[in-house]
Amino acid sequence: MRRVIVRRSSVHGRGVFAMEPLTAGERVLQYKGENTSWRNAVRLHQREGVEGHTFLFGLSDGSVIDGSRGGNSARWLNHACAPNCETNEDEGRIFIHTLRAIEPGEELFIDYSLAIDEPADDEARAQYACRCSAAGCRQSMLADAA
Ligand SMILES: [Zn+2]
Repeated sequence: MRRVIVRRSSVHGRGVFAMEPLTAGERVLQYKGENTSWRNAVRLHQREGVEGHTFLFGLSDGSVIDGSRGGNSARWLNHACAPNCETNEDEGRIFIHTLRAIEPGEELFIDYSLAIDEPADDEARAQYACRCSAAGCRQSMLADAA
């Protein structure tokens, strides 16, 4: 049974929404895609013009899962500074778990906490700006945003 659906989001582009009530701590999705290096993924995205930072999920070993290649609906998860889901790495795989109960129709969010190689200049800050409007919004999807 499908538990989530991808549709247009008021926050950004497309988003992932609950189709049925979810309880806290449920595993709802696996973040699928091609496992590759940051270098390869970034080069590929630059060449193909993919606007892809949100499709790359970093793993603890330094590689990434590229959701734009062989990915599933998890790649449409939007960022929020006060998310209702979290990501857990398990033997090189990424799973999305709910942090609290979620009602049908609610959008699912994760905290990207993106780490980028170069120091965040104005352009990077603009590219990764957050508009989730949560209380305490960091105004940024970057992990080290002050
Ligand atoms: Zn925010």
